[in-house]
Amino acid sequence: MTSLQRIPKVDKILVWEGIQLLLSRHPRPAVIEAIRGVLDELRTAARTGLLQDADLAPAVLAGRVATEVERLAAASLRRVVNGTGVVIHTNLGRSLLADSVHAALDEIGFGYSNLEYDLEKGERGSRYSHVERLLCELTGAEAALVVNNNAAAVLLALSALAAGREVIVSRGELVEIGGSFRIPDVMRQGGALLREVGTTNRTHLRDYRGAVTGETGLLLKVHSSNFAVVGFTAEVAAGDLVVLGRELGLPVMADIGSGCLVDLGRYGICGEPTVQEFVAAGVDVVTFSGDKLLGGPQAGIIVGRSSCIAPLKSHPLLRALRIDKLTLAALEGTLRLYRDERQALAEIPTLRMLTASADELKTRGRRIVRRLCRELPASVTLTPLAGVSQVGGGAYPLLELVTTLIAVEVGQLSPQELELQLRRLTVPVLGRIHKGRFLLDVRTIQERDLPLLATALAELAG
Ligand SMILES: *Cc1c(COP(=O)(O)O)cnc(C)c1O
Repeated sequence: MTSLQRIPKVDKILVWEGIQLLLSRHPRPAVIEAIRGVLDELRTAARTGLLQDADLAPAVLAGRVATEVERLAAASLRRVVNGTGVVIHTNLGRSLLADSVHAALDEIGFGYSNLEYDLEKGERGSRYSHVERLLCELTGAEAALVVNNNAAAVLLALSALAAGREVIVSRGELVEIGGSFRIPDVMRQGGALLREVGTTNRTHLRDYRGAVTGETGLLLKVHSSNFAVVGFTAEVAAGDLVVLGRELGLPVMADIGSGCLVDLGRYGICGEPTVQEFVAAGVDVVTFSGDKLLGGPQAGIIVGRSSCIAPLKSHPLLRALRIDKLTLAALEGTLRLYRDERQALAEIPTLRMLTASADELKTRGRRIVRRLCRELPASVTLTPLAGVSQVGGGAYPLLELVTTLIAVEVGQLSPQELELQLRRLTVPVLGRIHKGRFLLDVRTIQERDLPLLATALAELAG
């Protein structure tokens, strides 16, 4: 009998005692799917000559099926430990909400609310009203609106302000953000016609002026986000574009991407103008994300001049792009923290992580290593090292923040094996491999992650 033939069939396995026990607790199709998965792995092992007799023992095989059933039954969307050092990590959910937002989510998610009810007048109200006043107060804008995300904000604004008309954009700003959001495509979708001006590295005010025709509907600036053009470059400042727009009677819009409400220059995070600066420069429509530098939930925020926001508020697309009540509760809770800048910096995790100083991270790194080492066997070695972390979220692509890394070694595991095993845990731990070492960045590790990290490393150490 070849080793492939020795692998039992699904219906044989189904009557085993261990499997019968599983069937009493899990749906039959799930158990069958798990058995098929395990058998596939065994067949692969057999073909490569790696199948061992022990793998076919019913107790061993049933054990693997049980593990597989549990894996299939576990929630797919799960918490992870972010040890990558990328603060606004789009793949890991971008920003963490501030603790104070917890209560708001609880109240609004689990009870009825005045979402679209005006309690003063006793009649239907607007869901957008809950954050509009706050956004105007914080940014100095006349009007505000919030939607599902910034991509939706850009789509809505282009559809409402420039459908069937030309939109002038600098060639250096025709960006693609991850996940196939490309400015030219969004523009087409919004029914606007793209009119590119300037060159990749240099665009001047005269380029915009020269491109304006009777068909022009909007002047657009887009934040270059995830890349930087360095060297011989020129771009037109928002304020200069506003002067041109006023002169020609054209609205000016800026998709600023990350959208920061506090000046982070003091913390060495320079070169990003705040939302307030764009508003003060007179930009008619400013759009940005809720979950990037703002540190809130996924949302698209639009602030600007009343006359330009009004067509967005009455556009039919708004209903399809609308923000949901949980997001709104989280956004209002986050924005309220910004009424006191010190509170925002202290309580919003994204800002706290970004502004953590090198000294602070060094002290914290040493403390984490001491604490973990007390709980772990000697086969786990943790070594603090100096390194750099990134902002992420399409902001400050070239900026490197000085941080403390922890190099992790567990017994004889190679860095690749260690990375894989940590990634496969119930609460996965994600880090990076650099120069043959597996590294965790102290900046993005949360206090509540520490017990999990200890358990995870103890488990791997065996
Ligand atoms: C991130 C980004 C977007 C997309 O924002 P989402 O909130 O992810 O939809 C659009 N434009 C710019 C310039 C960005 O940086």
